[in-house]
Amino acid sequence: MEQIVKKIQARDPEQYEFHQAVEEVMESVKPVLDRNPEYRQQAVLERITEPERVLMFRVPWMADNGQVQVNRGFRVEMNSAIGPYKGGLRFHPSVNLGIIKFLAFEQVFKNSLTTLAMGGGKGGSDFDPKGKSDNEVMRFCQSFMSELFRYIGPNTDVPAGDIGVGAREIGYLFGMYKKIRNEFTGVLTGKSLNWGGSLIRPEATGYGVVYFAAEMLSTRSETFKDKVCLVSGSGNVAQFTTEKIIELGGKVVTLSDSSGYIYDEEGIDTQKLAYVMEMKNIRRARISEYTEKYPNSTYVPIDPGLTYNPLWNHVADCAFPAATQNEVNGEDATNLLKNGVYLVSEGANMPSTPEAIDQFIGNKILYGPGKAANAGGVAVSGLEMAQNSMRLAWPRDEVDSRLKHIVKSIHHTCLDAAETYGVEGNYMAGANIAGFVKVVNAMLDQGLV
Ligand code: NDP
Repeated sequence: MEQIVKKIQARDPEQYEFHQAVEEVMESVKPVLDRNPEYRQQAVLERITEPERVLMFRVPWMADNGQVQVNRGFRVEMNSAIGPYKGGLRFHPSVNLGIIKFLAFEQVFKNSLTTLAMGGGKGGSDFDPKGKSDNEVMRFCQSFMSELFRYIGPNTDVPAGDIGVGAREIGYLFGMYKKIRNEFTGVLTGKSLNWGGSLIRPEATGYGVVYFAAEMLSTRSETFKDKVCLVSGSGNVAQFTTEKIIELGGKVVTLSDSSGYIYDEEGIDTQKLAYVMEMKNIRRARISEYTEKYPNSTYVPIDPGLTYNPLWNHVADCAFPAATQNEVNGEDATNLLKNGVYLVSEGANMPSTPEAIDQFIGNKILYGPGKAANAGGVAVSGLEMAQNSMRLAWPRDEVDSRLKHIVKSIHHTCLDAAETYGVEGNYMAGANIAGFVKVVNAMLDQGLV
């Protein structure tokens, strides 16, 4: 296994996040390979870590001032053993091939856990929607889709949103796909309700993260009532994580963006959250504005000189990283534990570094890794695909109850797999093992392709 990891590192030395994601999975699945010698003989690790297809393309577009801009577009079609490639698009200046590959790799296991027939993929661009006009975002999305359309389709590859890609971007992307292909199909998920979207899809990732946390709490006969919660980010996942925590009786005291974070000791209630949603989703303002509206709260700007994130250094019970990868490092984990946090449910993908994860697992806290805890989002995307295929729209309660059921089943599957392989209570190992076994068995059934 070490040799495989070394080979992957040597082949693409700059893809750090991908290496990190692969190493985490390799460590977990070692006992599975030991019990199933045919997996080694069939080189399943080498096969599952190599994308089926990698697409990189030029995305030229024109800024409002007439200046031509060029960005880079990506789609990594990682694995289609159990269904069409499925996974979001990320528009953020930090995007590169290593990041998209790590996200696509994680997506394979996550989608496998949902019980739905979805393979794994991910895409995006180093385009930064921040500060761009609606027209600029539209022109970019149209240019991006005028290349991507060749590779996707409702039975081939079904992208969705991620960081920087919300309802607005999905609309522009879908419009261009429809025009070029001359067909109205469920090629993207996260669509608006009046043209093929599913109820609960916008809420699904955040709600799912909290449902997963509630399941973890229930193993200790506890509920969310009066739990103090730290949430990072203030985008889609953070907003609906906060909404569900409030509904279940918990108190959220932090939110953040890439400039800093706010701390509101009194708790962010429904009214304050509605303000955040209007501020972030409509005016696209910075989180610092929160303190102008609610002066009892404080704003702490990012201090690049600090080696830890002060957001994770408040007294609390639960933490929900919901911004980006590697946002909780070893020092942050120490601070969380010191401040009484005993549950971490990851809204973001791979938000905790290996050093942080070691501490969570070593201290036996309730740690729900992203690929299990945030799988509710892609699960409801799968339900959106099902509704599109049937040309039907299910009511809100039906989608929510299916989401709850799927999250419950993921929770159970993780615990079950962990127990089978002698790592009781380790959700990370359980998620990796269960996700891996299903995909690998499907690959073997389908021969060497
Ligand atoms: P959004 O774009 O809606 O929000 C992202 C939030 O995180 C913003 O507040 C953003 O701040 C902040 N953020 C982004 N990058 C950084 C950074 N480098 N440092 C600090 N803050 C940052 O994205 P989502 O809420 O959709 O996604 C959040 C996370 O959840 C991602 O890891 C994503 O992969 C994961 N996820 C999302 C799913 C979904 O359905 N949307 C499904 C499963 C996982 P700013 O506005 O300043 O950039």
